[in-house]
Amino acid sequence: MQVAYFTRLRQIELRDEPPPAIAQPDHVLVRIGRLGVCGSDVHYYAEGGIGAQRVEFPATLGHECAGTVMEVGPAAARLKPGDRVAIDPAFTCGACDQCRTGRQNTCRNLRFMGSPGQAPGAAAELAAVPAANCLPVPDAVSLDLAVLAEPLSVGLYAVKLAEMFPAARIAILGSGPIGLSVLLCAKAAAPCTVYVSDLLEPRLELARRCGADYTVNAAETGAVSAILQREPLGLDRVFECSGDPACIDQAAELLAPGGTLMQVGIPPAPRVEFDPHPFRVQELSVRNVRRQKDCVAPVLGMLAEGRMDAAPLVTHHFPLDRIGDAFELVAGYRDGVVKAMVELA
Ligand SMILES: [Zn+2]
Ligand SMILES: [Zn+2]
Repeated sequence: MQVAYFTRLRQIELRDEPPPAIAQPDHVLVRIGRLGVCGSDVHYYAEGGIGAQRVEFPATLGHECAGTVMEVGPAAARLKPGDRVAIDPAFTCGACDQCRTGRQNTCRNLRFMGSPGQAPGAAAELAAVPAANCLPVPDAVSLDLAVLAEPLSVGLYAVKLAEMFPAARIAILGSGPIGLSVLLCAKAAAPCTVYVSDLLEPRLELARRCGADYTVNAAETGAVSAILQREPLGLDRVFECSGDPACIDQAAELLAPGGTLMQVGIPPAPRVEFDPHPFRVQELSVRNVRRQKDCVAPVLGMLAEGRMDAAPLVTHHFPLDRIGDAFELVAGYRDGVVKAMVELA
């Protein structure tokens, strides 16, 4: 089977390898059909890491994936060959203090697909994974949308953690796949007013299609005050989904006293600077969102019921032998790309 490897910065190579074996009784073998290119993958590709987590070349890659079950281990009878599944890429131990208290997203022994030194990446024609991580995909949900269940689950988890209430007024800073996922999930969860900012016009356009009530281009001066003109008392929640440290100060300006900044984006630099005083004086909270937990299956259900339309997020498709082009496109924010999909089967 073909497996994609990062071989050095901005270089992806396909290698031929024997297919993986089902090493544990509760594992299954999945033929990966689609792989989504995620912003975190692109940090590894273009910068060689995220914070202290560095890639050691060569390394496998990718984590947003869906496919078809080919073989099941003896303790994985819940699934059968031919089942279409979305894969939750976070393999947890189930035994540590975090797992035992329902915090499996911060599992002490968590292995994430395609993260340096953790579980093998999903950019391979076949993957052997725990059956517990394979969520059945309803017939009404395409494989593309099943892949999107991963970023959408991060959006749904962020919205749940934010304890949104009816008529909440929120802003989403950054209208990439994660920002748009928060938008779709917020709108599906409760009636709310959503402001979206981004630097790229096509992404703002997409935000409007996905239900944003008002969008601003953050590159223009006065983007924050344009929102505050409409919401003079400030906002209840701000979801930081860009990773741009400047957004932390913007969030402080936008929030009403007592409001909450939901930090979802990944800052590229090891340290960030922001003004702590508005956080102190206005008693603002900061809530970090670490990936997701228990939200992939609910998202698949919401997609099947048509409670949100995530299809517009998929902007590009590439065959496996052009996976490098997919990464270049996403790294360069070119051609209005939001989610690029690699077709493996
Ligand atoms: Zn992702
Ligand atoms: Zn654990």
